[in-house]
Amino acid sequence: MAQELEVSERPLPWQLAIWQRLLTNYQRQHLAHALLINGVAGIGKVQLALAFSQRLLCLAPDSDFACGQCKSCKLFSSGNHPNFIHVKPEEEGKAIVIQQVRALNEFAHKKAQFEGYRIILISPAEAMNLSSANALLKTLEEPGSKTLLMLVSHLSGKLLATIKSRCQAVDCREPSVEQALDWLSVHDYDRTLAESSLVMSEGAPLKALHILGQGLIETRHQVVADLLSLRSKSVGVVEVAARWNKAADLSEILHWLISVSVDLAKLKVHQEARNRDLISVLEEASAGLQVNSCFQFHDQLMEVRRLLLSTANPNRQMLIESLLFDWVALP
Ligand SMILES: [Zn+2]
Repeated sequence: MAQELEVSERPLPWQLAIWQRLLTNYQRQHLAHALLINGVAGIGKVQLALAFSQRLLCLAPDSDFACGQCKSCKLFSSGNHPNFIHVKPEEEGKAIVIQQVRALNEFAHKKAQFEGYRIILISPAEAMNLSSANALLKTLEEPGSKTLLMLVSHLSGKLLATIKSRCQAVDCREPSVEQALDWLSVHDYDRTLAESSLVMSEGAPLKALHILGQGLIETRHQVVADLLSLRSKSVGVVEVAARWNKAADLSEILHWLISVSVDLAKLKVHQEARNRDLISVLEEASAGLQVNSCFQFHDQLMEVRRLLLSTANPNRQMLIESLLFDWVALP
């Protein structure tokens, strides 16, 4: 995600129950030496891990949270705490490589510079390739004393069973819609826009914030309006494909369109559409299509997404163009 939240010493409002549980375990000295913090992307798992790390390292915590003022907290906020490392891919979407895991193994076994914990955060853990994951196993089995590993995962199904079985699971869920809207309202977004962003993010508030910050609601409206214009031939395929290609990430556009294609089919059989903010355009588009065409469009979108994921360097413009030529021709 391009937009990162300011790191806070507090967990997000919907994480308080998990926070209390972790803290109680810590205070009773029952904290496992490895935690697997898992849940869908965009709900604040990394923030939770960071805030908890800071709390454990803080030299003068009030009862629940890090103080934010002590030497340790200052080092932590500036990203320079010697007892903490955050291992992540060097570029988004790339793997966590074995050299990075070797460095963390070394860190886990050297003497701590400060009293207290040594903390290793790995995110996302599924970015470890097979050799990295294997290299981590030894440290997971025998971490140094007072060492805490936190693995954050959006897709824990992709992790090796041998990794998962050595971690205590911390399952995170998205907040209720009301809780998410309250949180988004603090960032001064209009409620209707915030509601749309939550539909788009499937309830993940941090992803919704990213959508709002990047103006992606407007882009999505334009993308869906383009679908209608293409059907009425008031705009050409090549022109639209070029515009989409510039406007947003293709995988993001596909994600929206897959949701839209489901709605088109639902409207054909008089079910309620999910993308309520697009309803008038969706009704018009659906009326001009046969029900089978809605399914066909959906299947084509899934196929384009598969190609996008499987090919190292797909030609985005061509992928979009071929999708749209088929769309225009649907009966
Ligand atoms: Zn502190």
